[in-house]
Amino acid sequence: MATTKVVPTTAKAKAVTGAKARAIAASEPVAAKKKAGKTRNPLAPERIAAILDVLRKTYPGVVCALHHRSAWELTVATILSAQCTDVRVNLVTPALFKAFPTPKAMAAASLPELEELIRTTGFFRNKAKSIQGAARIVMEEILRLPGVARKTGNVVLGSWFNIPSGVVVDTHVLRISRRLELTHATTPEKVEQDLMKIIPQDRWIDFSHEIIHHGRQICVARKPRCVDCTLEKLCNSPDKTWTSQEAG
Ligand code: SF4
Repeated sequence: MATTKVVPTTAKAKAVTGAKARAIAASEPVAAKKKAGKTRNPLAPERIAAILDVLRKTYPGVVCALHHRSAWELTVATILSAQCTDVRVNLVTPALFKAFPTPKAMAAASLPELEELIRTTGFFRNKAKSIQGAARIVMEEILRLPGVARKTGNVVLGSWFNIPSGVVVDTHVLRISRRLELTHATTPEKVEQDLMKIIPQDRWIDFSHEIIHHGRQICVARKPRCVDCTLEKLCNSPDKTWTSQEAG
């Protein structure tokens, strides 16, 4: 891999050559060279500064040679670049990211599918395992990020992976679960615990989605539209704005 600088662009830096390059070389501070003759210190700050200055002038606007549009794509491209040229990786990644545009898609992809798409980068079996594993770890780590609470984790696992890790308890689920007397708890954590005991696990994901929709459209916080509510006969909430008097 040529460089590791992360810049979201596909432009390539061109090395300055010829007369311009010679001019850059000539502009290198002579002091650094002269001092080196007496007490040579290859780590002298002025020498380091000179090296950096020359490199910046020689390669203006340098960017990562691996084409990418996101940190995720760069991660995958970097995995593929092991024992492979950046040019070859750049030939492979467009089709790979078209077929599997997200970590979710890549995590769910079969190894043979991935292997076929990256075959020409070499070591394709190991690389397919690596990028699939990376995609899965990315998803798992999302749940451990600071600020990503259990609710977010349940949303990601449920909606992305179809894994019922819990019941999403947002403001709608909390309010309606209480109105339907499914819980008396007042915190999302306790409400979730109560719901997980009484809702079958294979309904956790859909239940959350359904209740959230219900909360937005019908069982709104103020003045719930009970007259239009399909659950009205099952609801004894004191918040009801209309009743058929058949609630049970
Ligand atoms: S009857 Fe009213 S309070 Fe009960 S769930 Fe329906 S909209 Fe909500």
